Amino acid sequence: APGGGGPPAAPTPPSELTGGAGGALAPTPPRLGNAWWAPLRRCLAAVRASVRLQQSVATRHRLRWRCHAARRAGLVASANCSQMLVRLGNPLVFFGELCDFLDGLGVPPALDERAPLGTRPWHCDICRNSQRSRGWCCPFSHRFCMECMSRWAEASPFPTCPAEGCGYRLGRRDLEDLRVSEARLKAFQEGLAQESIDALRQDGRAQIKLFRCPGAGCNAGVTLKTSEPRRRWACACGAPAACTGCGASPYHFHGRCDEVQNLRARWLAWLQGGGEAFRALERRAAVEAAAEQVAHREAKTRRAELARDEEWKAANCRVCPRCACAVEKVGGGEAVVCGQSAHGGHRQPGCGHRFVWQDAE
Ligand SMILES: [Zn+2]
Ligand SMILES: [Zn+2]
Ligand SMILES: [Zn+2]
Ligand SMILES: [Zn+2]
Ligand SMILES: [Zn+2]
Ligand SMILES: [Zn+2]
Repeated sequence: APGGGGPPAAPTPPSELTGGAGGALAPTPPRLGNAWWAPLRRCLAAVRASVRLQQSVATRHRLRWRCHAARRAGLVASANCSQMLVRLGNPLVFFGELCDFLDGLGVPPALDERAPLGTRPWHCDICRNSQRSRGWCCPFSHRFCMECMSRWAEASPFPTCPAEGCGYRLGRRDLEDLRVSEARLKAFQEGLAQESIDALRQDGRAQIKLFRCPGAGCNAGVTLKTSEPRRRWACACGAPAACTGCGASPYHFHGRCDEVQNLRARWLAWLQGGGEAFRALERRAAVEAAAEQVAHREAKTRRAELARDEEWKAANCRVCPRCACAVEKVGGGEAVVCGQSAHGGHRQPGCGHRFVWQDAE
């Protein structure tokens, strides 16, 4: 288990304190004057103020992190980021505006921010506490609270998802989201570089392979036993979901990895080859859908023409053994040059290869 220690002391969330103070501590206002009631009310106001302050410190901290995240993602220039940080330093500043701005830019909320209203509370399996924050989530949907995960990310050289048998390796982005120290981040990057050197040395006889996220600039990954079934990888970096078995994206829910490769190869061959003429025809039919009847009739005749063309080609054309272009036979000679025959006056594409008519298919 990560973390090492037992369950940490869980401070009461400030929000609950406010709610509790408002509900439980406020008695019905007394009818006989305000003499004894006034000090209690002052005391209550002081508690509320200190809770508000505590909340604002935490909010400020999260907003500061989000400003940095916006800069890292290239959503704001570093000059703008510095300006926002200066404004955040002012104790009188109103956070709502900056928050809206960051939301508008698409900067994700911090992991310890409250989950959207209506989300059910969940359990972190490390600390066993009920959670209302967003929390950290691995690409395979294992969720833990930010506090537990930050501690784990800070302590382990290559932190992995704590869920049993998961093997997800946290990337730089995860460490940034978990707000680990700068020193830790640096050590992590250096460790990664050293590790890839080691991996090169002992390549080949490994029983374990490392799947890296295909997302640009993302260095999250997962270690998998070579015998393990494939999984669907949906990374927080936003790269389209991929298969850990073959790397194919989008993820294939059905079919084996090798079948997928075959299917895609066949599909590609079909795209480049014979399907072309028919597809062009169908595209055209779609464009002319307004004049549907006319288009249909035309498409029919063109299809028939095309079919006749195919017959004609079978009788009069051969495939160049070098470039696989169709070559039309002109005249009586047995020697043909790819691309030099003419039909209706225009040159066909070809490679210039010389071959004997009868030998070709
Ligand atoms: Zn649980
Ligand atoms: Zn936890
Ligand atoms: Zn996981
Ligand atoms: Zn990624
Ligand atoms: Zn696959
Ligand atoms: Zn050729």
